[in-house]
Amino acid sequence: MATVTFDHVWKKYGEVVAVNDLNLEIQDGEFMVLVGPSGCGKTTSLRMIAGLEEISQGDLRIGDRVVNNVPPKDRDIAMVFQSYALYPHMTVRDNLAFGLKLRKTPKDEIERRVKEAAGMLSLDTLLNRKPRELSGGQRQRVALGRAIVREPAVFLMDEPLSNLDAKLRVETRANIARLHQRLKVTTVYVTHDQVEAMTMGQRIAVMSEARLQQVGTPQSLYDHPINRFVAGFIGSPSMNFLPVTVTGEGEGASLKADGLDVPLPADFRSAVKAGNAIMGIRPEHLDLQAAGPAGTLQGNADVVEYLGNEELIHVSAGGNDVVAVVDSAYRVKPGDVLSLKVPLDKIHLFDAETGLSLHRTVQEVAATTGEAPVAV
Ligand code: ATP
Repeated sequence: MATVTFDHVWKKYGEVVAVNDLNLEIQDGEFMVLVGPSGCGKTTSLRMIAGLEEISQGDLRIGDRVVNNVPPKDRDIAMVFQSYALYPHMTVRDNLAFGLKLRKTPKDEIERRVKEAAGMLSLDTLLNRKPRELSGGQRQRVALGRAIVREPAVFLMDEPLSNLDAKLRVETRANIARLHQRLKVTTVYVTHDQVEAMTMGQRIAVMSEARLQQVGTPQSLYDHPINRFVAGFIGSPSMNFLPVTVTGEGEGASLKADGLDVPLPADFRSAVKAGNAIMGIRPEHLDLQAAGPAGTLQGNADVVEYLGNEELIHVSAGGNDVVAVVDSAYRVKPGDVLSLKVPLDKIHLFDAETGLSLHRTVQEVAATTGEAPVAV
């Protein structure tokens, strides 16, 4: 097993900066997810670990060894891609064994590893089939098996679930998580899907526009997003953002928006100055209640999406579209006039210009690490 360290790593394609000064340490045995929208640089980062892209600047280390100039085959990594890339004319057994044969692994050792991987992935009964005789999910399991038999120090996975249908994706997600718990091999997993990132990652590195925005456990990213980008990217449906005005100072400071007039929570007092800011509130934290009190947003239900146990309501509140997730027992109908209570302990505030979080925790972390959070 091994750590993977990006030390001020850059990747440029001519004028295009694909990865901008990436600093990230993936711990030994950790399951790290790189997540972000299309084009943010996550695949390029993974391919640099694999040795499939040259590094323009900086050092990449696997364990203590700088691997910038080490060829892929000498890096002790195994990669799983979105496309399974199985050999169509070979059986599952031969697909699993092929890489080991190339490396001149002894025959009985190959047999042991193939048997073990097939057992882990429930491929035992499929070993004599060809890829065309397998379902998509089974093919992806063979691709995973081919990586496992290598017994590498690091697994690299690039959107391995994107060719699977929704049900299989959930199943295979659990399979990969189970495998990691069993093998405890350092894993770097790339996806654009924040649900996959939240459910699988021990830590998540969120990227946008070639830059790392924030690294943390799923819960720390959900509770304390460092900027508006991370706040909007992590969580589904996305966080609501509303312009607010801060008036007064210290304990007397308050937060005002359409229909909302509440004291400024203590966690923001040190960083927030009078003026404009952006308030963030997650849809699942809004509560439906009787109209009236000052801590509520008022508006009309616009569209109601019934999901069985809950419903997702789009509300036009003043000039803003707000999404709330509430218990479906409310049976909200389009056109209903609603009051949505904003719990003060759940709000986020962001600088109107830089997009940076104004929460005390985020400010303190930035001060102790000496690293300025990325403005968005
Ligand atoms: P996706 O999820 O769409 O694969 P990504 O986050 O993995 O996106 P990358 O594939 O890492 O993004 O690409 C990062 C940036 O680098 C993009 O702007 C892309 O257009 C650019 N890029 C990638 N490969 C090349 C290349 N060979 N030549 C020029 N630009 C490239």
